[in-house]
Amino acid sequence: MKKLWGNQPKVLILTALALGITMIGSRSTQPVTETVNLTTPQQLEKKPVIEVEEIAPQDEDAWLNRKRLAKAQVPDNLKVALQSGKPTGNLLRKFPYPFRSMLALTSDIDDTTPEEFSDYHRFLNTKEQTEGGPGLGLDVGDSFWMFMANNQPNHTDSYDHGLDGVMTYFKGTDSTQKHFDAEIKHYWKVGWIDSMHTFGDFSRKDHYDPVFKREYAVAAWDALKQDGINLEVWINHGNEANVDAFGGYDPHRFSAYQAGDNPSSPHYHTDLTVKNGIHFVWNSIGEPQMGWESPLFEIKLRDGQKLWGFHRYTHDLTKTGLDWNWVPREIHRQINTGTLDSLVEHQQYALLAQHFGGYDLRFPFDEKGVQALRLLAQYQDDGKVLVARTTRLLKYEVARKFVQVATAEQGDETWLNVTAIQDPIFGPQPLSIDAVRGLTFYVQNPEKTHLLVDMKPIRPEDYQFNPPDATGKVSIGFKWFKPDYTDYSFTSTRDASAL
Ligand SMILES: [Zn+2]
Repeated sequence: MKKLWGNQPKVLILTALALGITMIGSRSTQPVTETVNLTTPQQLEKKPVIEVEEIAPQDEDAWLNRKRLAKAQVPDNLKVALQSGKPTGNLLRKFPYPFRSMLALTSDIDDTTPEEFSDYHRFLNTKEQTEGGPGLGLDVGDSFWMFMANNQPNHTDSYDHGLDGVMTYFKGTDSTQKHFDAEIKHYWKVGWIDSMHTFGDFSRKDHYDPVFKREYAVAAWDALKQDGINLEVWINHGNEANVDAFGGYDPHRFSAYQAGDNPSSPHYHTDLTVKNGIHFVWNSIGEPQMGWESPLFEIKLRDGQKLWGFHRYTHDLTKTGLDWNWVPREIHRQINTGTLDSLVEHQQYALLAQHFGGYDLRFPFDEKGVQALRLLAQYQDDGKVLVARTTRLLKYEVARKFVQVATAEQGDETWLNVTAIQDPIFGPQPLSIDAVRGLTFYVQNPEKTHLLVDMKPIRPEDYQFNPPDATGKVSIGFKWFKPDYTDYSFTSTRDASAL
């Protein structure tokens, strides 16, 4: 990202919250909305909790302005008008400023052991030194399994693990025995896991020997609920033995085996699965198209329920057929200047399918792959492509498409209230700051626009004022999620908590 500090000295705004003190550092701008209470050093000592907000001199005015906007009371005479929202029309910028595209790396957990998982996520998500060099600090979520029923012999990683070493929640198909449940729960909490790759690996030597039954779904959802793992994204997996798959059933195609949404089948589970929070499904239909105006499309299940399908780039078309490039050693064919420039030019979304841990490799990316991923990070740093975990990308798109806002003017100020995210399938979505992050509005004067979510003011740090973009228009937005480069490797976490 652009350098915030340059070579200028830092100016600190120290907020001793407990005492209500604000002290503005060396540069002379006086706060206009804060009362500066003088307090003795002894009083300060008693209340050592001080939040330090580092503000560069060039950002100081904007910071004070955000505070002013955030603290102001909604004028009484505007309250009614601000509650009747409507669709935003051309008020909304497509992507959070300055980005012109959004991309998610969506990896299937096939054959991934916990060792592999932390190796490649350290490279993708953190800024630590890793086998691929300095980490990229990208927001990359992943998928996981509950069960392992695959009966094919398999060597899954370079640490000599077989299929029992794969990161599944339960051991084999026994829902009374937990396996890597602690790892999965941990990675869910920190955001390195955000989707499920069906209930498990039910691929079999004999493709017509399905193991999955509804009781597996019942056990899975019970356990997930107990652990507070609230999933929204489902990604189908594997061959015809994976009868829990759903969303792409077609009696005349490969997907004829999909039975998860067939109420008269012993494999039926989508009543439970949708009720437990799944709103988005990748339905096993691979696609050679990478960029999409919108990644979402409506799917009607055989039990009558609807949910969101999403497009996922899985392969290229060649003269001889399909060329599945969703493997780490081919990632340079998914990510290169050609594909990224096209996304930016057309202002599109992309969800790239991958299998980061699916091979018996010490580290999944070769030099070309590392370079491709560094290129992606560069496009993000340059403000072109925002890399977001799958859930965030999909939920952003629902918010962008279906947000409703009300605006009202008072004097030279504008008030903008998000009244609803009116999902046409799942109804009004819960409103919170995280539900609206990234939404960016073209307004006359961002610095005189107050943002509200469901009539509640947002925090000053969640305001983002934007200079004119390629359209020549200025904008204001709800700030996107803060980058998190923490090394959440389960081993390092466990080591740290043991200290
Ligand atoms: Zn898979």
